[in-house]
Amino acid sequence: MEYLMDTYNRLPVSLVKGKGCWVWDDTGKAYLDLVAGIAVVNLGHCHPEVVRALKYQAGQLFHCSNLFCIPAQETLAELLVENSFSGKVFFCNSGAEANEGAIKLIRRACNANGKRGSTIITFKGSFHGRTLATVAATGQDKFKLGYDPIPEGFKSVAYGDIDALKEAIDQSVGAVMLEPIQGESGINAPPPGFLQQVRALCDAHGLIMALDEVQTGLCRTGRMFAYMHEGITPDIMTMAKALANGFPAGAIIARPEIASVFEPGSHASTFGGNPLAMAAGIATITTMRAKDMAGKSLSRGAHFSKRLNELKAVHPGIRDIRGKGLMIGVEFEPAVGFLAKTGLEKGLLLNVIKDHVLRLVPPLTISIKEIDMAVEILDAMLKEKGL
Ligand SMILES: *Cc1c(COP(=O)(O)O)cnc(C)c1O
Repeated sequence: MEYLMDTYNRLPVSLVKGKGCWVWDDTGKAYLDLVAGIAVVNLGHCHPEVVRALKYQAGQLFHCSNLFCIPAQETLAELLVENSFSGKVFFCNSGAEANEGAIKLIRRACNANGKRGSTIITFKGSFHGRTLATVAATGQDKFKLGYDPIPEGFKSVAYGDIDALKEAIDQSVGAVMLEPIQGESGINAPPPGFLQQVRALCDAHGLIMALDEVQTGLCRTGRMFAYMHEGITPDIMTMAKALANGFPAGAIIARPEIASVFEPGSHASTFGGNPLAMAAGIATITTMRAKDMAGKSLSRGAHFSKRLNELKAVHPGIRDIRGKGLMIGVEFEPAVGFLAKTGLEKGLLLNVIKDHVLRLVPPLTISIKEIDMAVEILDAMLKEKGL
């Protein structure tokens, strides 16, 4: 890697082709994909509807500045609103950008309101992206190392601890931002009812509740968005990863009265909402609805979890199995970072977080047969290592 900055610990494989839950490397070897680009390719690789939409749009118009009207943005925004809550949408290109935009929107709304400060409370173990503001929002010091000065205006409290949140709220605070399930730090769900308690606290104090559904969103947890499990509605929500099934796209949706603090010139993006991304996004959401991907995620996730619990019964190295739908974490007592590399040898794409948690986020189209195949390979891998 002579010409690339050394920012990634890459596995020694070059993937060149994908179809459904399978990918192939440059030697023709096949792998069952339990990573899906980290919860990105929710409909599976090269889904025909998304491929068709992209091919058609590529022959029409790649790019068009937001100086001009892009009707497909209105179509996708309407689809997102119909599938979440009443609000207005801003399109960007990634999760960090969506959160960065949400942070700007929160600050502008708080500053316009004037009754409270614009400090945002986030949570320990959270992950919100790699721009400076989203790194500041992220509740993990390792992502901030060496980047001083870190932007101000954030404080983080223990995830799932409603008393700690209560304690942290003062006049300087204007919003609370969180993931419904923490992805990057190990598939950590808060205690039942936590999101409802956060909602109630936000209502009581007049705070904006912002959900980062970049990883949990778009059917990953068995609902279109993870907040829907909890019977609440956020004021702002961000999404990205699976929004266009692998084509770069992100979005912020905000309740109309909050969205209205953005006016022409407040925020912008050159590529955000470009015709190619919108075509892929429309095809993705339409297919998710038509094929009930949320339902599939729920039922196949239940099967996967059941099978993993059978493994847990015979492998003492497994400490915990958790998650929702097809966002599953398998926590191990010993360090299991080696699993990703061993998986490659066995034809399985795996992702391990912090050396101890296997993060399973396969395409939501994975079949029961493919799940069983993955479990058998995992079982053999763990046996070999005496786990
Ligand atoms: C991946 C992720 C992000 C960052 O998304 P990028 O597209 O990599 O910028 C932000 N928040 C959460 C919860 C994520 O999982």
